[in-house]
Amino acid sequence: MGTSSERPDAGSAGPSAAEETGRSVPAPKAPTARTAPTAPTSLSPSRAGDFMTCPLLYRFRVIDRLPEKPNPAATRGTLVHAVLERLFDAPAAERTAPRARALVAGEWERLLASRPELAGLFAGEDGDAGGGVAPERLAQWLSEAEALVERWFTLEDPTRLEPAERELAVETVLDSGLPLRGIIDRVDVSPSGDVRIVDYKTGKAPRADYAAGALFQMKFYGLVLWRLRGALPRRLQLVYLGSGDVLTYDPTESDLLAVERKLLALWEAIRRATETGDWRPRPSKLCGWCEHQAFCPEFGGTPPPYPLVAGRELPLIPAPSGPVDPVPGERGRMDPLQQR
Ligand code: SF4
Repeated sequence: MGTSSERPDAGSAGPSAAEETGRSVPAPKAPTARTAPTAPTSLSPSRAGDFMTCPLLYRFRVIDRLPEKPNPAATRGTLVHAVLERLFDAPAAERTAPRARALVAGEWERLLASRPELAGLFAGEDGDAGGGVAPERLAQWLSEAEALVERWFTLEDPTRLEPAERELAVETVLDSGLPLRGIIDRVDVSPSGDVRIVDYKTGKAPRADYAAGALFQMKFYGLVLWRLRGALPRRLQLVYLGSGDVLTYDPTESDLLAVERKLLALWEAIRRATETGDWRPRPSKLCGWCEHQAFCPEFGGTPPPYPLVAGRELPLIPAPSGPVDPVPGERGRMDPLQQR
C-alpha cells in the first residue's frame, strides 16, 4: 500500500486533509539537494489535479519540490489503505472487521518504521522536545483509523472479493508521447472479464454537483488501464469511508477519449508554463490548506527564484486534436450517490 506521493488521499490540499492539519504557515525553506528542482516528465492524477487547482501550487510541488509536513489526515489515509490491502492476504472467510481492526496497530508500526518522522504528528504539548509521543493523541488517531476500517465492512464484503490487483502501479505513454502514471488501489475482474477499478477515500463523498470532478482521477485510471490492456474498464468505483458512500460510474469510450484530450491540453499548459516560468496563482477556498502561502504572492509571499533554465523544452507533445471538455466526462452512466 502506497506511501507514494500519488496516494490519492495524501499530499492533496483539501478539506479532508486540512481539517486536522491546522492553518499554520510553515517557515520558508530552500529545496534540499535531495529534492532538487526538475522539469515535469509525466502526469499523475494528483498532479493533474494540482495544476487544475492552482498552477503555482503545481510548480511548488513538482518543480521546486518544496517540502510539506506530514499531516494526521493524510497519514491516516495511508494507514487505512495499508490495512485494507493487507486484509486480502488472509483467506476469504477470515476477512472480518475484528481482524481488520487488529491490523491497524501493526500497520502503523510498519509505517512508522519506514517513515520515523511521522512520530512528530503526535508530539506532546511541549513541541516534543524530548522526542516523545503523546499517547492519548496517538490512541485517538488510531481509534479513528479503526472506525474507518470498520465502516468499510458496511460498504463492501471482502469475504466475497478476490482482487485481481492491489496497489497496482500503472504507467503508460499516450500516442502523443505523454507519459501517465499512478497507483490503483484495487482492480477486480469478473468471471466474464469485466474490469472494475476501485479507489478508497478516507474523506467524505463530495456533493452530487461536484461528483464529476471527483471522478476525474478514476477516469484517468480508466484511460491508463484501457491503453495498457486494450479493454475498456466496465466500472469505476469510489468508496468513501468517511461518509459511508459508494460512487460508481460506467465509462464509455468517448468519456475516456475526452479525458485524454483534457490531459493533453493540461500538459500543453504545463509545458508552456515550464518554458516561460509563468505559473499563476489561482486563489480559492483551498488556499486555506495550502502549505506554501509563505511563498505565494496572493498571501504577500515571493516564490523562490525559478530554478529551471528559461526556454527549456519538455518532450514535444502535440496539441489536442479534438474539443476539450472543461470538466471531462459528463457522458456515460453515473449512479447516484448511494447512502449507506
Ligand atoms: S496559497 Fe497560493 S500557491 Fe497555494 S493554492 Fe492558494 S494561490 Fe495557489
